Amino acid sequence: MDSNQLRQKFLDFFAKKGHKIIPSASLIPENDPTVLFNTAGMQPLVPYFLGEKHPAGKRLADAQKCLRTVDIDEVGDNWHLTFFEMLGNWSLGDPASPDGIGQGGYFKKEAIEMSFEFLTKELNLPLDRLAFTCFEGEPENNIPKDTESFEIWQSLGVSPKRIKFLGRDDNWWGPAGQTGPCGPDTEMFYWASDQPAPEEFDPENKNWVEFWNDVFMEYNKTADGKYEKLQQKNVDTGMGLERTAAVLNGFNSVYQLDTVKPILEKIEGLSGKKYIFEKGDLGLEEKPECWEQDVKSMRIIADHLRTATFILGDQKGIEPSNLDQGYVLRKLIRRAIRHGRMIGITEKFTSKIAEVVVGLYKEAYSELTENKDFIFNQLDKEEEKFLNTLEKGLKEFEKLAGSNISGHDAFILFSSYGFPLEMTQELAAEKRLKVDTKGFEEEFTKHQELSRTASEGKFKGGLADHSEISTKYHTATHLLLAALRQVLGDHVYQKGSNITAERLRFDFSHPEKLTPEQLEQVQTIVNEKIKEALPVKAEVMGLDQAKKMGAMGVFDHKYTDQVKVYTIGDFNHLFSRELCGGPHVENTSQLGHFKIIKEEASSSGVRRIKAILE
Ligand SMILES: [Zn+2]
Repeated sequence: MDSNQLRQKFLDFFAKKGHKIIPSASLIPENDPTVLFNTAGMQPLVPYFLGEKHPAGKRLADAQKCLRTVDIDEVGDNWHLTFFEMLGNWSLGDPASPDGIGQGGYFKKEAIEMSFEFLTKELNLPLDRLAFTCFEGEPENNIPKDTESFEIWQSLGVSPKRIKFLGRDDNWWGPAGQTGPCGPDTEMFYWASDQPAPEEFDPENKNWVEFWNDVFMEYNKTADGKYEKLQQKNVDTGMGLERTAAVLNGFNSVYQLDTVKPILEKIEGLSGKKYIFEKGDLGLEEKPECWEQDVKSMRIIADHLRTATFILGDQKGIEPSNLDQGYVLRKLIRRAIRHGRMIGITEKFTSKIAEVVVGLYKEAYSELTENKDFIFNQLDKEEEKFLNTLEKGLKEFEKLAGSNISGHDAFILFSSYGFPLEMTQELAAEKRLKVDTKGFEEEFTKHQELSRTASEGKFKGGLADHSEISTKYHTATHLLLAALRQVLGDHVYQKGSNITAERLRFDFSHPEKLTPEQLEQVQTIVNEKIKEALPVKAEVMGLDQAKKMGAMGVFDHKYTDQVKVYTIGDFNHLFSRELCGGPHVENTSQLGHFKIIKEEASSSGVRRIKAILE
C-alpha cells in the first residue's frame, strides 16, 4: 500500500465512523506566536481542545501538512523528512452528546476499538505483529495506572504479554506549557523484521516500531502542580503517514515511497549519478564511501525541495527571506542547491524538482497546482540570486578555512554571500572545523530585525499557550480589518496575520502607502469600538448563509459546509463579521488602547501594519 492509498483508507474509515473529514490547515499557523510551522496534526485544533466549538462537529479526521526542521541534520538518513503528513482522528468532548451537526464525542473505549479495527481489518495487519503500551500511573500525583486501556486492548484479543506499562516519558502527553490539558496515551507498535515476532513485547527492541498513538486528554494541570479531571475530555491521535507507509511496506527507508522516489529519479537524471548501488558497479563489490556521499546529497535535495515546494505552495505567499518562515525556506533551497553542485548538477534545477513534487500531490494537495507558477518563479529567482554569490562565497570560505570559523566570519559569509549558518557549519564539518555559532548569533541579532527562527524548536507538538494577550490581539485584528475597509474601501482583504505577545502584524490588500490621516482615522475607529464595549460572539452556520450575511472569509478556513462566524457589535450596530476559529475576548472593552506603530509595504499590492495594545 503506498502513502496515497494509506491516506485515503484512513480518511474513508473514519468518515464511515461518523467523522467529518476536514482539509489540512495551512503549514503556517494562524495567530500562534510560539511556532513558525505546524509540527503536529493536532496543533491547528488547539482552540477546540480548550473548549471552542468546531463548526464541523465533535468527530473530526484529517491529514495535516507538518514541517519539522529541528533535526534537519538528520536528513539524509533512512527516516527523517522535514515535511510530512500526519493522519489523525479526534473527538472533542465526552460523554457523547448530540451537537446538532454530527455525532457525539467518544473516549477510550471507542477510540481504541476504532484504532484496532483500522489496524486489523482495514490494513489487515496480523495481530501477531502488533504490540501496545499504556501509562503506568503516578501515585504521587494521584494519577492511576491506565488499566482501562489495558483491559480494552485485551478484550479485543491482544495477549497481555504484548501490552506494557510505561512511565511519563513514553506514555504521557502535555501540557505544552506550565498548565493546561494533558493525559495518558496508548501507543501502537509494529514488528518490522523478517524474523518472527517474539511472544513477549520488549519496547527496547528496535524491531518494534511505534507508529500511532491515541492520547486521552482527561486531566488539567493547575498552576500549583495538581492534576484535576477535565470537564471536556478529548481524544487526539496521530500517525505519521510516510513513516507508517514505509514500515508497512517493509521498506528500509522513506525514500522508497511513492511520494518521494520519483523525486530521486529526477535527480538521478539531472546529475547523471546513480542512487542505487548494484554489485559490480564501478567494478566494486561494496558501496564505496563516495557513493554514500552522493546518496546523502540526493536525499537532502529531494527532502529539502519537497518541503520548499509545500511552503511556497501554501497560499500564504511566503517568499525566501532572512526572517521567520522565509528564512527557513531560504535555508532549505540554498542547502539543496549546494548539494546539487556536489553531485555535479550545473544547470538551474530546483523548479524542475518542484514540478515533480507538484505532480505527485496533484490530487491530495491541489493548492500546489493552483500556485505552481509562484512556486517555480520563486525557486528560479532564489536560485539565480544564490548562484551569483555561491562560487565567490566558496572561495571566501576556503580562505577562512585555515582554522575554526569565527562568529564574525560566519556572519560575513551570511551577509555578503548568502550562506545560511547551517551551510557554513556543514562546510566546516567537512574540513573538521568548528564555527562559533554563538558569535554568529550575536552578530545576526545586532544586524537583523529580531528573528523568531530559533523559537521553532520550543514547540514540542503540544498545546500552544493561547495566552490572554494573544487572544486580545486576535480580536484587535478583526477590528482593524473592519476599520481599514471603512476608511480605504471594499478592496481591502486580509492577506496574512501574525501575533506575538508584544504586537500584532496584519497584511492586507491595498495598492499604495496609507497617508498619516488615513492611519489616524483607522486608529481612532478601532479605539472608538473598544470604548463602545461591543460584545464578541461566535455562531456556527452554513457557508452559504455566512456569505449571504457578508462575513469576511479568512483564507485559512476551507470548511465546505458548516463554518464558525465571529461578530463584533450587536444586531443593530454590527461592526465586524468574519469566518474565524477563535479564540476571542468576550467584549472589546477588554482590549485597552490600540496604537499603530508602523505601516509599510509587505509585497506588491499588499501593505503591512504593526500595532500594539497598551
Ligand atoms: Zn480571527
